[in-house]
Amino acid sequence: MAESMKGLKRSHRAAEVTKADIGSTVTVMGWVQKSRNKGGVIFVDLRDRSGILQIIFEEANCGSEVFEKAARLRSEFVIAVVGEVCERAGAVNTNLATGEIEVVARQLRILAESETPPFHIEENSKTKDEVRLKYRYLDLRRPDIQRNMIMRSKACIVIRNFLAENGFLEIETPMLTKSTPEGARDYLVPSRVHPGSFYALPQSPQLFKQLLMVSGYDRYFQLARCFRDEDLRADRQPEFTQVDMELSFVDVDDVIDVNERLLARLFKEILDVEVPLPIPRMTWQEAMDRFGSDKPDTRFGMELVDVTNVVKDCGFGVFSGAVAAGGSVRGINARGQGQMPRKKIDALTAFVKDYGAKGLAYIALGEDGAVKSSFAKFMSEEEMQALISAMQGEAGDLLLFAADSNKVVWASLGALRIHLAEMLGLLDKNQYNFLWVTEFPLLEWSDEEQRFTAMHHPFTMPMEEDLQYIDSDPGRVRAKAYDIVLNGTEIGGGSVRIHQDDIQEKMFEVLGFTKERAYDQFGFLLDAFRYGVPPHAGLAYGLDRLIMLMSKVDTIRDVIAFPKVKDASCLMTGAPTVVDDKQLQELGIAAVSEEEEN
Ligand code: ASP
Repeated sequence: MAESMKGLKRSHRAAEVTKADIGSTVTVMGWVQKSRNKGGVIFVDLRDRSGILQIIFEEANCGSEVFEKAARLRSEFVIAVVGEVCERAGAVNTNLATGEIEVVARQLRILAESETPPFHIEENSKTKDEVRLKYRYLDLRRPDIQRNMIMRSKACIVIRNFLAENGFLEIETPMLTKSTPEGARDYLVPSRVHPGSFYALPQSPQLFKQLLMVSGYDRYFQLARCFRDEDLRADRQPEFTQVDMELSFVDVDDVIDVNERLLARLFKEILDVEVPLPIPRMTWQEAMDRFGSDKPDTRFGMELVDVTNVVKDCGFGVFSGAVAAGGSVRGINARGQGQMPRKKIDALTAFVKDYGAKGLAYIALGEDGAVKSSFAKFMSEEEMQALISAMQGEAGDLLLFAADSNKVVWASLGALRIHLAEMLGLLDKNQYNFLWVTEFPLLEWSDEEQRFTAMHHPFTMPMEEDLQYIDSDPGRVRAKAYDIVLNGTEIGGGSVRIHQDDIQEKMFEVLGFTKERAYDQFGFLLDAFRYGVPPHAGLAYGLDRLIMLMSKVDTIRDVIAFPKVKDASCLMTGAPTVVDDKQLQELGIAAVSEEEEN
């Protein structure tokens, strides 16, 4: 039978009771973490979001009625206890903030009973993800998940305060908006009033925030929920949160400056970590050349070395052929790994095949000076020596090479570098390496669509000095776009926007948009720009990923209260679900099953 809390008022959260309270009476409320009946004494660990407090029931202190009630307590019962704070009679628990004290109970109320939960509520529970997510409300009781959620809340407050102090206004933009097929797939919402018409849920507030600049709001931010209907590879969620911002009358350096100060403040206040400013910057080209990635993890070396010129005329056809076909040959030096068994090297070869590489060539340098290599027999002694010295190979090193188009070589060696670092334990979660990657290419060739697409989005400003190539060599044009990278993860990105209509027109032309199509999709923005648009720029962070890195967890699901799984469903609510025919009728929609359609 559940009792009421009438007449009781909580005086402390569990872990807020301290040694200073010894001798005073407290009223605490929370969940039973565990209870142990040791004959004459019942020990109960009381848990709430602050932590755990030990409660002691002894018949001599609380009377037989309370003692009998305490004997009924089970895990996850919700209780209220009134008692006196004492020094621990038994062993001090140094793992607990409240490990030196205990509360000797006088009163007990059972505010709610609990069935036996499907899993024990504990830190780092080994329970299967499916079970955790089905009972997410229980999973969210776990102290580690609660810590993540508390950190997330605090981080949002720090961000809000910093941006407000720096002249930003928090403004909400619509959730029901217009579909713009450029970009990822939209989530659509049918309109009842306009049968056959649909809203889209926003992929980002991009166009609205630019309109707010046209409207003179000068600096905007929003913690914005965004939606993208993509096949969920890796660690993605169909809805996620951006810290979104836009600023007027600024250029790249201004956006970078305010965001560096924001990150420094955030890491100082939440983690007590100093972020040295300025954060290093690297152009996209340099990032690709040195790390094979536009989001380099700079916590460790093993940089790529371009050996194209060294091997272009060598006897090994895989190398010279790739160069002749316009590609490159690059390598990485896994220092001290010359003893790696053949089996492991084969596994690395299989690994890079996922990134398009046809194989991985290697040279293993023995401690005794012996050279083992997959391709030595095709090379002269001098060619081998030239290659090893270009790689700064020393006794005991393992040199790994890929030869292909630049794109494939970068992708495979970039991924291999991270893979090796994981294997060799080179990644320290307590080290935070920030990096700006700048001067991204404006455009990216899409084989699928047989046209250029915008690497960032169609409103991104080309670098002035590259505008001259926009007709003759569009792939060469760099953009005023930047990403902020933390430990090899892109945590945010943005750009300076185009605010001159001739450049915007040109951009649409290069992207293969007719005037009509551009107008159909973005007409309201283009119209707005005719009425005085200030130069503007912005950036958006992926908040979930940022908090994930700050909490040192491996998945964004651990920092989102109610996440979805890979197929975009919610295991707790069962969403998405079939709806009533009546609801569909009202919307003028008929759902056709695959069978019927066939
Ligand atoms: N809207 C962009 C994005 O979602 C960010 C920006 O350009 O500000 O990536």
